[in-house]
Amino acid sequence: MSEDTQHKTPTIELRHVEKHFGDLHVLKDVSLQVEKGEVLVLIGPSGSGKSTLCRTINRLETIDSGEILIEGKPLPQEGKELAAMRAEIGMVFQQFNLFAHKTILENVTMGPVEVLHVDKKKAEQEAMELLRRVGVAEQASKVPAQLSGGQQQRVAIARSLAMHPKAMLFDEPTSALDPEMINEVLDVMVELAREGMTMVVVTHEMNFARRVADRVEFMADGQILEEGDPNEFFDHPKTERAREFLESIK
Ligand code: ADP
Ligand code: MG
Repeated sequence: MSEDTQHKTPTIELRHVEKHFGDLHVLKDVSLQVEKGEVLVLIGPSGSGKSTLCRTINRLETIDSGEILIEGKPLPQEGKELAAMRAEIGMVFQQFNLFAHKTILENVTMGPVEVLHVDKKKAEQEAMELLRRVGVAEQASKVPAQLSGGQQQRVAIARSLAMHPKAMLFDEPTSALDPEMINEVLDVMVELAREGMTMVVVTHEMNFARRVADRVEFMADGQILEEGDPNEFFDHPKTERAREFLESIK
């Protein structure tokens, strides 16, 4: 095997990332790699730095030291290159963050039209396909408030996919949803994972993690304390911190 095939470039790589908010040390020497097509689930107590970690990958937060590489390239600092990179990493948040005064269809076409300069008709065709894929095509001409939370979150996923991202970050995408809507969103994510999307998912949904995660990272107090196979982690956590945490979310 050549050097190249032995060491594939990860889609996302963090090397010794450090981050403070004032006196608060939020990310402590965080290193991780996400290979192309891999699904990584990030789990850990509230306040442990999971959202901050996701946000640094998209450079919605700066880091104090360390490196973040996307397909082997350092994150651009600012300007057009940063905007272009951001468009390549989709992000779905707990709150759906749809534009309230735009229709569902417009929410999905805006990015492709304005950022990727896709022809409007073509963007609309593709948006309708994506909305069908996530099961909300009938809602295309409504505004977000007319949809349920689960439907809005599926639109948010379609909106990210419309940008043809290299990877998707999901930060507790089902935490704000009523219980009966959680599965309709998870099902879309399971499908995406099956299709080979590279994903980082912050979630406490253990069944989801067992089904689709290739790897679980357990984070507490800004550090990655455990990393490994999901079943191994959930059935035999190695640290006391992880045992306590898993007990608390049962
Ligand atoms: P998690 O997503 O695991 O719950 P966060 O990344 O949101 O954790 O937060 C980690 C820590 O950083 C928390 O103590 C939180 O209060 C703090 N924090 C997050 N964002 C900011 C910010 N913009 N300014 C100051 N402190 C912050
Ligand atoms: Mg969070």
